Amino acid sequence: MVTKQHAQDTPFPPNFFDEVRSIFKRLFRVYAHLYYSHFKNVETMGMDAVVYLNTCFKHFMLFVYRYSLIDRKELEPLNAVTNKVCFAKIF
Ligand SMILES: [Zn+2]
Repeated sequence: MVTKQHAQDTPFPPNFFDEVRSIFKRLFRVYAHLYYSHFKNVETMGMDAVVYLNTCFKHFMLFVYRYSLIDRKELEPLNAVTNKVCFAKIF
């Protein structure tokens, strides 16, 4: 069990950032699969489902950009979706 004190005294392992990057790259691929293969199913669930998916993806991507967690080349397949969801002007 990790106590709060233990967590504060234990440094991150040297490969921590690489592990986080790997996890985020895989999560991105899940989003890509969702948008490419299952978006019509999401739409049939109603507009709320689309909004929830887009909101989660936007938060995810802003975190990715903030900490440079995924290489730009890896992001390319979903650029159209990312631009629309993250950077389109709503008003
Ligand atoms: Zn699937």
